[in-house]
Amino acid sequence: MAWRLDIAVQTPAHAALGDLLSYASPAPLVPGTLVRVPLGRREVLGVVWNPPVSLENAEPDMALKPVGAALDALAPLGEAWRDLVAFAARYYQRSIGEIALAALPPQLRDLSGTQLARRLRRKTTTGPVAETAEAAHPVALSAEQTAALARIEAGDAGTFLLVGSTGSGKTEVYLRCVADLLAADPGAQALVMVPEINLTPQLEARFKARFGDDAVVSLHSGMTNPQRLASWLAAHSGAARIVLGTRMAVFASMPGLKLVVVDEEHDPSYKQQEGARYSARDLAVWRGQREGAKVILGSATPSLESWHQSRPAEGEDPGGRYVRLAMPSRIGAGELPTVRLVDMNLQPPKTVISGALLDAIGQRIARGEQSMVFLNRRGYAPVLACADCGWKSECPHCSAYRVFHKIDRTLRCHHCGFTERVPRACPSCGNPDIAPVGRGTERLEEHLAELFAAVTRPDGSAVRIARIDADSTKKQGALESQLAAVHSGEVDVLVGTQMIAKGHDFRRITLVAAVNPDGALFSSDFRAPERLFGLLMQSAGRAGRDAAYLAAQGATAEMWIQTHHAQHPLFSALRRHDYTAFARQQLEERAAAGMPPFAFQALLRADARTQEAAQAFLNAASAAADALEGADRVVRYPAVPLAIQRVANVERAQMLIESPSRAALQRLLAQWQPLLHALRRTPEGKGVIRWLVDVDPHSI
Ligand code: ADP
Ligand code: ZN
Ligand code: ZN
Repeated sequence: MAWRLDIAVQTPAHAALGDLLSYASPAPLVPGTLVRVPLGRREVLGVVWNPPVSLENAEPDMALKPVGAALDALAPLGEAWRDLVAFAARYYQRSIGEIALAALPPQLRDLSGTQLARRLRRKTTTGPVAETAEAAHPVALSAEQTAALARIEAGDAGTFLLVGSTGSGKTEVYLRCVADLLAADPGAQALVMVPEINLTPQLEARFKARFGDDAVVSLHSGMTNPQRLASWLAAHSGAARIVLGTRMAVFASMPGLKLVVVDEEHDPSYKQQEGARYSARDLAVWRGQREGAKVILGSATPSLESWHQSRPAEGEDPGGRYVRLAMPSRIGAGELPTVRLVDMNLQPPKTVISGALLDAIGQRIARGEQSMVFLNRRGYAPVLACADCGWKSECPHCSAYRVFHKIDRTLRCHHCGFTERVPRACPSCGNPDIAPVGRGTERLEEHLAELFAAVTRPDGSAVRIARIDADSTKKQGALESQLAAVHSGEVDVLVGTQMIAKGHDFRRITLVAAVNPDGALFSSDFRAPERLFGLLMQSAGRAGRDAAYLAAQGATAEMWIQTHHAQHPLFSALRRHDYTAFARQQLEERAAAGMPPFAFQALLRADARTQEAAQAFLNAASAAADALEGADRVVRYPAVPLAIQRVANVERAQMLIESPSRAALQRLLAQWQPLLHALRRTPEGKGVIRWLVDVDPHSI
């Protein structure tokens, strides 16, 4: 007796092309079993996807290749997990095999059954969660925390939007919720997601202090393959009660999943920007509903999508929308910082740091407090230019300028990575006087050092300025040591990109300044204001986090914003820390313009050797879509070049498609797939167009 097995393997095929491959097996392996199968000349890992089909009455000429060894030391992947993968594949227009295999730890592909069995024996059981010292003496919850927790714990399932100011104790609510869940149900597991790898160590420390080392594992791309495998196995076996991770953790196999937390749910990092472009936040909500697990989305500035989906807890209809829970007060922290706007139109031309801000930072230094200066652009200067002939440091491979990095005197393209030493003179006219234009964090750091060169700290020593950004933290462990220096008070003024704005629990920072946030106010990307508001609120949240410290210092926390548009409504809302007003105004604009969350979008992107070829593909695709069922319910916009049209010598174009109905958009995309695949060869035979579909794109 033989069986046919439909197996998901990693192939480049797109969803509609049927990505399950059939193999013959002497045994009827159950769905979810991991197996090795021959594919071309290799042997690859696959997942049995469908129930086995008997080959007893099959056509004799159906020559199926036989499956290889099954990794049967491992329990099969559950039905809920397979449903999640299948949904993600369908929704984001990818193949099941691509999503399934990417969700498994890479090392699983190389281990033999015996090696795997050995790994599994190493650690498979944990008892009930260990009473740790911290767990024995938890803090007393505030009234707001108590109310939020009670509401979350009241029902069996549901999605909650926890809108809590920075420092309102959201994490404490997560911890308490997890603790109650694990205590009540010995098989229960919780998944807790954070947007950035560099926030995981801090969170891991907090969870381990509360629940003990064995109960908690992490899953993120900064781990080694053996570490990832160990975490994954612990989650899959149920030994790990709590999984902490970045967006990839949404696919962790967790048979006992009962709670999912998505912290900083508005953060763009939850959207994968290459390959399968999934939103881990949205998948978390779907997964919670599928598995009957509670979902908590936490943020001080929720995404407008989530805010729009939520209703206040009182009097809410039970129609499956998110329940909104508010925690406006800070705990253990001072009041939210006073927001001060500096009108840069009233400053002398070329002012970088206004006199008033300089004084305010100086006062902090004199009192031994810390300040944080935030600029969302790394490098020394975004462009190097020749005033004589107009030469600029363009990248030869991209339609973008190369950034000047003074530290190693290089010009670096932030898009393709092309790096050269800075020329001694203008490559075009020989003028030796080429100069930086504009300002990045490196130059800001240098400027602050000059401004404070003559100032001394209370003990007479020199002012210490430090910078944290993607450049300063490239080396393994660099970020940790730089953050540790800030925490231990070895830094007076910290300069950095958005990396320093997120999540960190700094205790001695009493002033935060955004020196040039205006760019996002008039961006062509309709989500730019939402992102800027979130970032500024989050930056403000880094100041005055320790009320006792503020009281002892006799200090107040301040957030400074230098802008040419002081009257902008975004800033007036920020001044009042009024997310609700900001959200209302933004949603009114979006509703009037028929934009998300009132419409659903997808992008069709095409990459080709020429812009014409890329756009021709998109136009042909659009024409082909005319004939599809329901095409009249989906708007297709004209093909346009991307804002940065050429990267690494590849021309890029895109077409926006939009519908007031998510279902209509999905139906069109599904029918479109095979047509796109057929159209990908250029008519002149000049190669293949690379294309992708981005569903619910973040920036358009
Ligand atoms: P959020 O995640 O909302 O920014 P946290 O949960 O990190 O806030 O809490 C901010 C600070 O307040 C932390 O140092 C935390 O330990 C402390 N904290 C939270 N809840 C309480 C409480 N009920 N009593 C005392 N301190 C608390
Ligand atoms: Zn020149
Ligand atoms: Zn480049």
